[in-house]
Amino acid sequence: MTTALLVENLSAGIDGKQILRNLDIEVPFGEIHAVMGPNGSGKSTLCHVLTGKSGYKIKGSAQLAGEDLFSLDVDERSRLGLMQSFQYPTEVPGVRLREFLLEAADERGIDEDVAEERIEREAERFGMKRFLDRSLNDDLSGGEKKKSEIFQIVVLQPKMALLDEVDSGLDIDAVRTVSEAIEEMRSPDIGILMITHYSRILNYLDVDRIHVMIDGQIVDSGGSELAAELEAGGYAALRERLGIEPEPEGGPMRKPSDFFTETPFDL
Ligand code: ADP
Ligand code: MG
Repeated sequence: MTTALLVENLSAGIDGKQILRNLDIEVPFGEIHAVMGPNGSGKSTLCHVLTGKSGYKIKGSAQLAGEDLFSLDVDERSRLGLMQSFQYPTEVPGVRLREFLLEAADERGIDEDVAEERIEREAERFGMKRFLDRSLNDDLSGGEKKKSEIFQIVVLQPKMALLDEVDSGLDIDAVRTVSEAIEEMRSPDIGILMITHYSRILNYLDVDRIHVMIDGQIVDSGGSELAAELEAGGYAALRERLGIEPEPEGGPMRKPSDFFTETPFDL
């Protein structure tokens, strides 16, 4: 089995609104793919639908290492090896990172000795030792939270990691650190889908393939030339090349949370 995640002809909607349209994505083991798209294009919805958040109407299929995801509950998908890092990791005062990880490892059937050994080794590698006995995400900076999420993924060793907006809200040094951490987590046993609306992280991270999502569709896939095109002309230039209608006046409908994640300059 060489494919970590295979999404075929996926459409999804909620509350009568169609968000994802006929999506195809294939992430082989050992590769890092990026999904790039403007705010409101459906990137987080893709994560929600794959991890099993309720309320969505879904058509199409998704497989994790050859197993059908949509017939499974959220926890079953997680045990099978799907993990997501969040745009806004939740702070959990009173629960230490180390204990949280041991519990999660136990749920996945990982032997306690093995889990403890991994926690020590990876904490050393990712510079997370001083956070192990602190509360999960509590009082961490944006960059530290994202690094903590990546550290958790490396310890729990899922088959597929979805990283939603892993670089938003980070200053440039933190983007570099988080990029290095993502590159460090690359292994033949995991597929990584990194979701972002900035192209800047791609200056620090070599991804195998970039997929551009606009209005719930993957409108183009390619290599670093696609990132360069977006860097130079933004999504507007890409829309023009592909003959997609320009964004409506005022842009897409935005949620309050978007105002905290938007780039202050045009892509
Ligand atoms: P992104 O992560 O790319 O910014 P989202 O997946 O969060 O985009 O949202 C895609 C679109 O779907 C947006 O227009 C958003 O307003 C809309 N949307 C998301 N969730 C809901 C919902 N529960 N009900 C109605 N519309 C929604
Ligand atoms: Mg989002």
